Amino acid sequence: MGAPTTPYGAAVHLFDPFAPEPDAGHYPDLVLCPHCRRDVPAGPRWVTWCEGCGWNALVGAPEPATSGPSWASRWTARVRVRAARRVHAELLAGGGTGSPWPRRAAVAVAVVVLALTVVQVGLVLLWVVRGSGFWHWPLAVLLVLLLAAVLRGLVPPSLERGRGAGPDELSPDDAPALHALVRDVADLVGVVPPRRLRLSTQDNAWVSRELYGRHVDLTLGLVLWGRLSWDARLALLGHELGHCLPRGGGHRAVHAAGLVLRGWLRVLWPSGYDVAVMRYRSRWDRSGGLIGGPVLVWLATVLQRLAAVPALLALVLLDRLEASASQRAEYAADVAAARVAGTPGAVALLSGLVDPRGWLTSVSSALRRDEDVWTALAVAGRRPARETARLRRIARDETVRVDASHPPTALRIDLLERLPRTGPAATMTPERLAAVDREVEGLLRTRRRALTDRLLESWV
Ligand SMILES: [Zn+2]
Ligand SMILES: [Zn+2]
Repeated sequence: MGAPTTPYGAAVHLFDPFAPEPDAGHYPDLVLCPHCRRDVPAGPRWVTWCEGCGWNALVGAPEPATSGPSWASRWTARVRVRAARRVHAELLAGGGTGSPWPRRAAVAVAVVVLALTVVQVGLVLLWVVRGSGFWHWPLAVLLVLLLAAVLRGLVPPSLERGRGAGPDELSPDDAPALHALVRDVADLVGVVPPRRLRLSTQDNAWVSRELYGRHVDLTLGLVLWGRLSWDARLALLGHELGHCLPRGGGHRAVHAAGLVLRGWLRVLWPSGYDVAVMRYRSRWDRSGGLIGGPVLVWLATVLQRLAAVPALLALVLLDRLEASASQRAEYAADVAAARVAGTPGAVALLSGLVDPRGWLTSVSSALRRDEDVWTALAVAGRRPARETARLRRIARDETVRVDASHPPTALRIDLLERLPRTGPAATMTPERLAAVDREVEGLLRTRRRALTDRLLESWV
């Protein structure tokens, strides 16, 4: 089929959603590899690299995921990678669901955390109702505010609407084809379709699960959607909806306890705190330097962090107990992605996600030439085979993960390639995907500016 023309030019990804892009035209020049002196293809849009000696091949690879901001995140990262290796081996050996004991222990910890939370809420309410004396009201207000800040994560997302500029909700009337596609993907994965579909301008996509019900909301970030080929997009929908598969008994309690503990850490160990302290200190230094000021601030920081230690330890413990289950859920979501988009689609998604710089370089050079943002993203999604080969090299690196919660990408790809290969689901026809494309292009009208601004921000 031909490429439908849109008000913004030809949508380049519509020719055939599943055909690989040939290299021709992408690398018009040849340059000499500075290491092994062989000729390598070069072009303006994509990284120039040498397949002989590997020169430049890993440019833009994500940082090793173990370099966290604190000992806790480094330790957690190590524990998760170990769990990811173990579960990978189990799944390849046809293993079942793993031992039930870590989950039972996690539920026990979660019950203690939630019970303590109920006691805390009860004590604060008691103080509000029964307290007396000069300190009654100031302290009551302070405690209620503190608890509200800590427990904010437990508020259902539906009640949070209207707070700031969130992603836009897409009604089935706005985007009937996209809604129908998401419903069909949910059917293929075997989960309840999301209740709401949202569109943001981010380079991300996620499902937000309701803590108290069965519903999930699916948010698609346009930067990510726009830069993925169609097979990778289907895999993305499959992976995200795969996160709605049952997670085993007690998962909800563990999830709720995690939200409470993270709430405490947000209040007691805010990451912006050091910055505030530094500013405060430099003001004292400039005003002639009263040693008491900074010392008091540091003392307050130390006390605050000491208070945070129980929450931090409980969270690290929960993470340890849930490590296998969380990595297993990620692999299950990958398998769901392959069921929808086929094995090549799921692998295309995983390789595409290890590429934080390559697509940005491609898009930024296009935007500098005043090209349209959506076309530029689509071109970045249709990467030539040579760039795909480079990304596969990055993905094969053991330390590369898309983020702290996912298994190493190399293990995810390895698992998908060793399981029986599948093709894209029969209902995902090019005509149907083209209809969704036209719909999304229509929805872009009001978001084109925001999208360009976000991209300009991210490479400054
Ligand atoms: Zn070379
Ligand atoms: Zn995931």
